[in-house]
Amino acid sequence: MADCIFCKIATGEIPAKIAKRSADAVAFHDLTPQAPVHVLVIPTMHFASARDARGPAGEAVLGRLVAFATEVATELGLDTRGYRLVTNTGPDGGQSVFHLHLHLLGGRPLGWPPG
Ligand code: 5GP
Ligand code: ZN
Repeated sequence: MADCIFCKIATGEIPAKIAKRSADAVAFHDLTPQAPVHVLVIPTMHFASARDARGPAGEAVLGRLVAFATEVATELGLDTRGYRLVTNTGPDGGQSVFHLHLHLLGGRPLGWPPG
């Protein structure tokens, strides 16, 4: 999608520190990390948010995206201590980039509930 920074990261038009790629997803390190490991996991196909990824195509993408994120977590050494996968959706969810993404956070104990 034109003018979407995460679409541009997916194509390589905007550089990012890539952690892993699959046929339909990319994991890259967040520009402003909130934990020792803070990776964003995106589908290469543009959906504005999780709420926009319903229906058979979206469900398949979401399922693969979560599975892919757990592979990234394993490769980054997070399995023993654990991690958090979260997707912010809409204004109250704190979403600031409107291309569906999972935050993969780990490397320190994470507070709950979030602020
Ligand atoms: P959201 O607030 O939508 O849940 O998360 C967007 C995330 O994208 C934020 O954590 C922000 O730091 C990150 N981010 C925004 N622009 C860029 C960028 O150009 N490159 C990278 N690597 N991360 C970005
Ligand atoms: Zn996009």
